[in-house]
Order: sequence, then C-alpha cells, then structure tokens
Amino acid sequence: MGETTSAPSTVALFPQGVSACEATVVLAEAAGDDGPFVIATDRTPFHPLDHTWPDQPGDRGTLTLGGREHAVVDTVTMAAGPDGTLYRAEAIPARRTDPGWSFLVGHVLETPPDGDPADLAGEQAGLAVDVARRSSLSAAHTACHLMSLALNTELRDLWRKVPRTDCLGSPDFDQTAITRSSITPWESVDRYRLGKSLRRAGFDAEALSGRLDAVREGVTARLAEWIAGGGRIAIDTDGPWINSRRWWSCALPPGHARLPCGGTHLGSLGELASVDVRIVIGEGELVVNTTAKQS
Ligand SMILES: [Zn+2]
Repeated sequence: MGETTSAPSTVALFPQGVSACEATVVLAEAAGDDGPFVIATDRTPFHPLDHTWPDQPGDRGTLTLGGREHAVVDTVTMAAGPDGTLYRAEAIPARRTDPGWSFLVGHVLETPPDGDPADLAGEQAGLAVDVARRSSLSAAHTACHLMSLALNTELRDLWRKVPRTDCLGSPDFDQTAITRSSITPWESVDRYRLGKSLRRAGFDAEALSGRLDAVREGVTARLAEWIAGGGRIAIDTDGPWINSRRWWSCALPPGHARLPCGGTHLGSLGELASVDVRIVIGEGELVVNTTAKQS
C-alpha cells in the first residue's frame, strides 16, 4: 500500500466484554482510489478478522466522528513493519508475535468521513459494536470449541497411535486434521482432512465412516451435558493488545478446558439453550455443521 505509520498496537477491549468506548484516531486512510475508508484508533471494542486464521468475521457497528455517525461494515487486521510500512489483512507478511511489528484494528467505514483524512489523527471517536450480531457470533464460536472437544473425545478409539492430546486429554483430532473453520451468526462449519497424511498420523478414517451416527449421538449427548453444567467462560490474555496471546477457558466438569483463541465468546455455557451438530463425510474430508441456540 506504500503508506506508513508509527502507531503502537491497538488495545483490544473485547476480551473484557466491552462493546462501546471513546477512543483516539491514530490512522485514517482510503485503500486505493475507490477502496473503503479505514480508521484505526488507540483502543477498540471491535473484533477484527484475524489475518492468519480467519474463522470469526470482523465486527460491525458504528463509529462517530465530529458528531457524524458512520456505519462500520467490517473490521480488519492491519500491521506495520519495523520500517512503518502498513499492510492490511491477508497481505500482512508477519505473525502476531513477530518483534518490531505493531498490529492495528481497522474499522472499515461505509462512507468516508468529512475533511482531509490527514487531519483526523488525534480526533476523538465514539465506537459501538452491533451487540446482537456479536452475541450470535460469540455463541457460534463457543459452540464450535465445545464441538471440537466433544468430537475429539468421541473419536478417541479411532487412533492407532496417539497424536498430540487436547486440553481434556483426548487425542486431538481437531488440531491434527482441521483445514478450515468458518463462523457465522449462530453457526460454524469446520472442515477436517481425512486423507493419506491423517492415516499416516495414525487415524482410522475407514472405520469412521461406519460410525458416523454413533459419533454424532455421542457428541450431541456430551454437548447437552456440558451446556447443562453452565460452565463459566473466561478469556485469559498475556497483554492488552490486539496481538497479545489469548486463551478460551471454560469449566467442563469433571475437567477444565483451555485453548488458544483470539475470538469472542459467551460469558457462560448457561447462555446456550442447545447446540446441534450435523456430521458428513465429503470428498476426503469430514464436515461438521454446528448450530447454537441461545437461551
Ligand atoms: Zn476459537
């Protein structure tokens, strides 16, 4: 893009459950001549699409500048290298933990703000996330984690040798085989490879096809049990910034789950009424549709 910034990483407020705040503009720019207009602030409650594992979409909401409210139609990750060169979304050539890089949350506006963008730095902005949509994405993301852990448990007898184990001690089918996870309001679709490399890792994919119904029933029963437990969910973080590492942690009696996750979640499993799963085998892959209903 050729643009530069020396702004430090954005402070992320969504891990503490904040959905609206005042903030200071640190960067305002249009992506190309007709590209969308993007504003980054020193802190934000908005959750951006992650550039390395784009499972949960960016938040929507509003950004108010100089008394004028703009619709935020998407939220993206931006990053500036050690020389200040700015990159956006999948063009970012660095990982979140690379030294010398700062990571920013870009609020994509539907309409450009008044005046010269260069004059906007230092202005105060009001930020408000669309909480209904956020809540539906959080429900889907929480349900997706529950499904992955229940699936790992139900597939535990199909391993000839044990790969890495998950946080509950089951062979980690999810992290060994997952190729893509996409989260939309109330729903996630997770895709797992079942080909040669998984077989080499010790997984018996042939036996799985004869057992799909039993696996689905087992996953469903486990999910119902966990939801009935109403376990509290916490987001642990090792720093306040958007690129700090974060973990999803949840009581799942008799155990306690904790896994790396940068997304947003419900406050407890008591907020879920039910989670339904549909499991099918497609071409060389297992596809799981997980649908959450909130209570
Ligand atoms: Zn996650």
